[in-house]
Amino acid sequence: MNTALQILEKHWGFSSFKSRQEAIIDSVLNGQDTVALLPTGGGKSICFQIPALLNEGICIVVSPLIALISDQVKSLQNKGIKALALKGGLSFDELRTLLDNATHGNYKFLYLSPERLQQEMVQNYIKKMNVNTIAVDEAHCISQWGSDFRPAYKNITILRELHPLVPIIALTATATPKVLEHTIEELKLELPNIFKDSFVRKNIAYQVIEQDDKLYQIERLLKRNTGSAIVYVRSRKAAVEIHNQLNSLGFRSAFYHGGLSADDKDRKLEAWQNNSISIMVATNAFGMGIDHPNVRFVIHVQLPESLESYFQEAGRAGRDGARATAVLLHNAYDKILVRKQFIDSLATPVDLKKIYRSLVNYFRIAYGEGMFSEHSFSFTDFCTTYKLNTFVAYNALNTLDRLAIIQLSKEFGRKTTISFTVSSETLLSYFERDIVASVIGKTILRLYGGIFDSPTKVNLELVAKKSGQKISVIISVLKKMEREELLELSLHITDASLTFLVPREDDKTINVVAKEVEVLNTKKTDQVEAVLKYVANDSECRSLQLVRYFGELNKEPCGICSVCSKTAQKLDRNEARLMAKDILSLLKQDSLNSRQISEALRFTESLILQVLKLLLDAEKICINEKNKYSIK
Ligand code: ADP
Ligand code: MG
Repeated sequence: MNTALQILEKHWGFSSFKSRQEAIIDSVLNGQDTVALLPTGGGKSICFQIPALLNEGICIVVSPLIALISDQVKSLQNKGIKALALKGGLSFDELRTLLDNATHGNYKFLYLSPERLQQEMVQNYIKKMNVNTIAVDEAHCISQWGSDFRPAYKNITILRELHPLVPIIALTATATPKVLEHTIEELKLELPNIFKDSFVRKNIAYQVIEQDDKLYQIERLLKRNTGSAIVYVRSRKAAVEIHNQLNSLGFRSAFYHGGLSADDKDRKLEAWQNNSISIMVATNAFGMGIDHPNVRFVIHVQLPESLESYFQEAGRAGRDGARATAVLLHNAYDKILVRKQFIDSLATPVDLKKIYRSLVNYFRIAYGEGMFSEHSFSFTDFCTTYKLNTFVAYNALNTLDRLAIIQLSKEFGRKTTISFTVSSETLLSYFERDIVASVIGKTILRLYGGIFDSPTKVNLELVAKKSGQKISVIISVLKKMEREELLELSLHITDASLTFLVPREDDKTINVVAKEVEVLNTKKTDQVEAVLKYVANDSECRSLQLVRYFGELNKEPCGICSVCSKTAQKLDRNEARLMAKDILSLLKQDSLNSRQISEALRFTESLILQVLKLLLDAEKICINEKNKYSIK
């Protein structure tokens, strides 16, 4: 019989195990529930793949992303191992054929997304299979306290019911002690063996840089880039913009966000994986499970919402073990912004009660009724009817959805995006030939000034109101223009559907979950505060700060982060006072950003920023959203 090591050598060509891999494999082979908590790139996959190969039968692997599933299945197949995946868009017959194969065809691995487990046919087949291991990849997705919560992960407990004696192995790289505890609880693991590797990534230099002119800083960093890079931003719009700017500076970049078609995503991912594009400017839609060895830079242009997601994203750097840099850029305004975006917008139980009451009135649901009733839903109309702040209402509805009080259809919140692919002259001459297109097109051009520069979200209801045309007419005109290659259209009708999942009981409905809401809100707030604390603390090794957040008590500074390597440019009081005077007199004439100030005064920007911070704290100056400072 083969041993684990022989399998490793035979199929993977490695001569030894990394860190805890062997112990983890032993635990699974012993039939015990197991948790493998290894950092990104730590080699989690073989921890379930090797036990599955050593035992008779098949291993069921639940994984959150189709791209991840495809990668792993392909790489197993390349090794001559029989593996298959249940992908999206399968017909009933195709699904049955695949499941038949998995059951009777000596397959070793069946990969599926958690949503698949809801299907009765899938359950029935899995029950018949000779399952040897259940692997849950990215297991933290089951916890709503984590940043990647996926409600469908709750289906995974079905597997335990179908095969009560088969060990479950949960794999994750993100784990604060609390999320870990919650993940174990939600997966219903029984006295699991927990293996935790150190989260220290010795080859990553973490840097936190205060910089008002971020593009300038990104350019400087990327000039040193010898491999691949990821630039993380917080919005789709920013992804497109920064990509355009980098391209015009001569960098080979692409952008990636959740609004792209599946084809586009695949194409871009592949171009990046095979190095024909070196820089990906992306939102957090680009991420989980990406296995690209030579990422030399991960740059965050805006503050992340939690250190969990930051650590995960930064951890995509340096998977090959060679030196890499993870940079977090920030400026004074960012701190105000994250509070506004992530804390002030949290829906409280009081907000939820108000929105819920409006909802049941809007749909005329009688007390005690409404369970499983589905309604078509116009968000704009709803907000206008009850004079609701759209920002708060949007968050509240999503919270109600998360709490399983209502269910919003997938289209909810998506907006139609238009980008023109021709010049304004071509467009105007087209309008001369088509009067309806002209009315609609010109309305759009008037409403959205910058639409020729980047893909722009368009509110069709607003266009309808301003142009006096029906939405259906607008859509057909836009589609026609798309066919004639005048524009690219990503059409989403915001009029989504909404289903009530529990009967109407007014405030009682919300009271039941109020505690949970408060816990979640506190958790969110703590996460944001932890990010701000991390950014502010520039006297302690960055790497130590991060791993401590994940419960690790390490003592040795990394020596390469921005704190450790700081050849401290210290500012003495006298000098600071003189500089402050110069800055104030400069700002009396005009509001300026830190780089302009540093150029005018011929001090380094890092010194200028230190003084600006003192002046901000003393409320002598203020900063606006363009990062310009002015006298208060
Ligand atoms: P994770 O899922 O933890 O992020 P993966 O399972 O994708 O990590 O593995 C990361 C990389 O490490 C892969 O390229 C894999 O082939 C490699 N790897 C795994 N185990 C070993 C080992 N024992 N020796 C050398 N490389 C390994
Ligand atoms: Mg993995």
